[in-house]
Amino acid sequence: MNVFVTGGAGYIGSVCTEELLNAGHAVTVYDNLTEGHRSAVDPRADFVLAKPETEGDILQAVRAARPDAILHFAANALVGESMTNPKKYFHNNLVNALKLADAAVECGVKKFVFSSTCATYGPPDRVPMTEDLPQRPINPYGEAKLMFEKVLIWYSQIYHLDFIAFRYFNAAGASGHFGEHHRIETHLIPNVLQVALGRKSHCEIFGTDYPTPDGTCIRDYIHIKDLAQAHMLGLHPGRSGFYNLGNGDGYSVREVISMCEKVTGRKIPTVEKPRRAGDPPRLVASAEKAIRELGWKPQFPKLEEIVATAWAWHKTHPDGYPD
Ligand code: UDP
Repeated sequence: MNVFVTGGAGYIGSVCTEELLNAGHAVTVYDNLTEGHRSAVDPRADFVLAKPETEGDILQAVRAARPDAILHFAANALVGESMTNPKKYFHNNLVNALKLADAAVECGVKKFVFSSTCATYGPPDRVPMTEDLPQRPINPYGEAKLMFEKVLIWYSQIYHLDFIAFRYFNAAGASGHFGEHHRIETHLIPNVLQVALGRKSHCEIFGTDYPTPDGTCIRDYIHIKDLAQAHMLGLHPGRSGFYNLGNGDGYSVREVISMCEKVTGRKIPTVEKPRRAGDPPRLVASAEKAIRELGWKPQFPKLEEIVATAWAWHKTHPDGYPD
């Protein structure tokens, strides 16, 4: 298949691109490199430097690549930042996504696979969370992703653009070549591993008064290669829908830090801080629907394996990507 991957220089997109190429697909990566890194693009892929805010740039790129399918990873993805700069989130994650969906329709693309998020649910009434729970986001990041989910529903009904929207829980871990390097790192596991590497003195814990057993937020961590496998399954034609991707296990911030201490064999000093705006206390997936309908089989469901692959990458890339 010929696949157009937006955000293919970013964390999740780089690993998916690698897996697509390993499976024999042809890939065009479209990325503006504001979050991504040129050296995170698999050299076997074609690369287009994106200017999504320029009129016609997305359509022109899609038209030139003539893809069978689009995987849309490109997005800003920081819950905290979305609470202070919502404009950035609605423009990039909604307006640019809409331009891409229009280009997909215009160019007759058969499948659109969208990176959605568990943040579209907001604090859930129950866990593990199934796809039919009400969606009541509590931050602009989740709201913008939900708005685009609704665009996809209408475009599939009216323009017959088949789509799969994966609602990711917390992506973590690394492949052998590609890992997590954000220019400003806010995510828990890479921040903790920076402390283990001696690059940071301590890790901050945002909120210790949540209604959870140890007072810190609970999340469901999923290995990046398992996310990539789900995307490959999502490429199959003829099915549209929403799927959660997680392991069904919730780990608190303190438990993640303990696991990082175990895997790295290093002590992680911590400092307790107030809550971070926009964080729901507990997000844990039920991915039964993806397992049942798509045949998804996670290969790395254990947090220890996830952290171990992240640690292996951080040790070999202590400064992340060179660019
Ligand atoms: N967190 C933390 N310290 C950090 C980074 C994150 O306590 O340095 C917490 C954060 O408040 C959230 C959880 O860890 O409760 C996971 O945050 P992350 O940013 O990794 O992912 P998110 O769930 O926001 O997508």
